[in-house]
This record gives sequence, C-alpha cells and structure tokens, in this order.
Amino acid sequence: MKETCRHCANTLSHRFVDLGAAPPSNAYRNPEQLSDPESWLPLRVMVCDRCWLVQTADFTAPESLFDAEYGYFSSVSRSWLAHAEAYVETMVARYGLGPSSRVVEIASNDGYLLQYVVARGIPCLGVEPTAGTAAAARLKGVPVVEAFFGSDLARRLLAEYGPADLMVANNVLAHVPDLDDFLSGFAILLARGGVATFEFPSLLSLVAGRQFDTIYHEHYSYLSLTAVERICAANGLAVFDVENLPTHGGSLRVFAERADGPRRAEADGLFEQRSREAKAGVASVSFYAGFQAEAEAVKDDFLRFLLDAKRDGKRVCAYGAAAKGNTLLNFAGVRPDLIPFVVDRSPGKQGKFLPGSRIPVVAEERIAEERPDYVVILPWNLRNEIAGQLAYVRDWGGRFVTAAPRLEVF
Ligand SMILES: [Zn+2]
Repeated sequence: MKETCRHCANTLSHRFVDLGAAPPSNAYRNPEQLSDPESWLPLRVMVCDRCWLVQTADFTAPESLFDAEYGYFSSVSRSWLAHAEAYVETMVARYGLGPSSRVVEIASNDGYLLQYVVARGIPCLGVEPTAGTAAAARLKGVPVVEAFFGSDLARRLLAEYGPADLMVANNVLAHVPDLDDFLSGFAILLARGGVATFEFPSLLSLVAGRQFDTIYHEHYSYLSLTAVERICAANGLAVFDVENLPTHGGSLRVFAERADGPRRAEADGLFEQRSREAKAGVASVSFYAGFQAEAEAVKDDFLRFLLDAKRDGKRVCAYGAAAKGNTLLNFAGVRPDLIPFVVDRSPGKQGKFLPGSRIPVVAEERIAEERPDYVVILPWNLRNEIAGQLAYVRDWGGRFVTAAPRLEVF
C-alpha cells in the first residue's frame, strides 16, 4: 500500500520511528475482557519531505479510539488546572475579553479551562465528542456541544451562536486525523480580528528529549511550527506569534488569526521559533533519521533496569496509567512479572487493566501496603509533582525511576 501525506498527498517514503504494534492506548480492559483478544495495530510514524508533517502511517476510525469509555479527565492534574487558569487570565487581559465576547474551546474535556471563563462572566461554548467528560463540564456550568469539530460544525455554530473572539485548542491538534478540515473550521468560526491559540507538544522537544512514548495511535501528528504554519496558511489562517511552554515536556502555543481580516504584526516569538527549527534542520530528512536508535536505547535501558531489579529480588510498581506509559510498556514488552501493578488517581481506571501489558490499575493506597523498592513514574512530564505527592515512599528507602530521556533512579 502506498502511503500518502494527510496534508499534501505527497508519497511518504521516510520513516521517523517504528514502535512495532500496540493496542489503542486508551483501550483499558475490564476484568471480564481478560480472556478476549485485543487488536494490536501497527505504530509507525513517517515524515513528509514536502510539508514536514510527521504523522502516523496507520490509523483506525476516530470513533473507535474516542468512545464513551475514554478515560482521561483533564481536571485530575492540578498543575494542568493552574496552567489553564493562568492562560484564561492572560488572554482576557491581553485581548480585552468581557461579557460581550465569546470564547469557544475545541476539545473542552471536563471544563478544566472554560470554568475559569464562566467565572469571569464571559459567554463560552465547549466542543467535546466524549460524553463522559462533556457531562462533567456541564456540572461546572460550561455549555457543551457534543461533536467532533470541523468545517461543517463551524458553519453550524457560526449560524447559531455568532463568531468567536477567542478559540482555544489545547492538546487536540495532534489528535485530529484531518488537519485541513479542522483548521478551516477555525477560519470560518473566528471573528475578523479574533484570535485562535493552539497548544501541542513540540517536535523539537520530542526529538531532544527522546520522548517516543508520546507516540500512540490517538496522536496522528507530531507537530513543528514549520508544518503548522504551512497547514494554517493553506486553510485561511495566519500565525502571528509563538510561545514555548514547559507543559508536556515542551509545548508550543501558536497564535493565529484569519488571513482575510485585519492582521497583527508578526511577533518576535514567531521569528525565534522559525529560526530555532531552521537551525535544528526540521525541514531536512537527516533531522529525523536517528530517532529510531534513540527510542531503542531508552527502551533497552528501561528493560535492563527491570530485569536486574527482578533478579535482585527488588519490588517495582508504576505510577500513572496514561497513554505515554502504555507506549513504553508495550514497546518494551513489559508484563506483570516485571511491574505487578500501576497506581492511578482516576477512579474510572482503577480495577481495570492496561491495554496490551494487562498490568492491573489500582488505587494509591496499594503503595503504602506493598512498600515497593522502586516506583516508576510513567508520566515523566509530571515527575516532580508526583514524586512530591509520593514522598512517603522514601520512608522505607523506596526510590523513583523515570525512563526518558535516559534512565534515572532518584
Ligand atoms: Zn505533506
């Protein structure tokens, strides 16, 4: 099968990384499903040598990846809530938003961000395809349209609610199979002079931090400013600023506006990020060529640590039943003999089993009961927050472990 770029239809002939096969990373198993087979899908990422969009080569329909069981509730992370509140405060001040403005957030999840817009008396609307999180948002007073966003929905929302002064899309761009239809929806719904912001993990950080575990089927794209600016331009949006953020191991926040409206001057942040990516060689095949070996080095060191720990009679558990962890565990072939349980705060995941590795997910109390020698922190981007929360592990001499960018025991 010839694979073509989802943006520009160019033939994809350069591999970025091949992680073998894995089940969809959010397909947690119930106990009664343990005797059923799972679908393992190839997990291979290619780069287009024309538009430089880094993209998964194989994917299934989004309906099967984001069903009502989809377990991630943004409000579980305190640091992410603080990030959302600070964003709302800054944007309201910078763009003078008030009771006559309208804010629309795409992938509004459980209302983690729009609750701060509601609190300021600014009209808002969330768009969220996942029923469980949409219901949680409504409990916070956030109105939600339950749908996937694209140009059709944008036209409907424009007719029903009028144009948006601020549109927010945090950590959703990478999850969108059809970036062109998605971004053209912003050009339709945005007011002339309105602002859209997109936050996504930065491709430069992914490569520098060997963050191959951020790769999973629900992530169709791994984005640089180079690719995003080009795809925005093809869909009626002009990028005018970029900020670098520490979230998710290094993210970009891209500011865009309608290309056919009054245009803002291009900000210094945009020039700086363009030159950073040019210097790194994002628009050259060689930038992508060494990543497979980097991913394998992380995997090999992690596996060696687990095998040594088992041989030495040490007890290991993991913290954070999130997508990242599943990519690492399945790429490394880890099973419950090496990590007998993973702790997660989200009650919806407790009592279930991780996809693929089938490691049981349990409540945090289990750590104090079992007193493990090592706690592997799977969401390394929250390592300080989690190590602080689990500081009691040190009472019995327990230590923490992270796998990327290199194995660390601390
Ligand atoms: Zn392309």
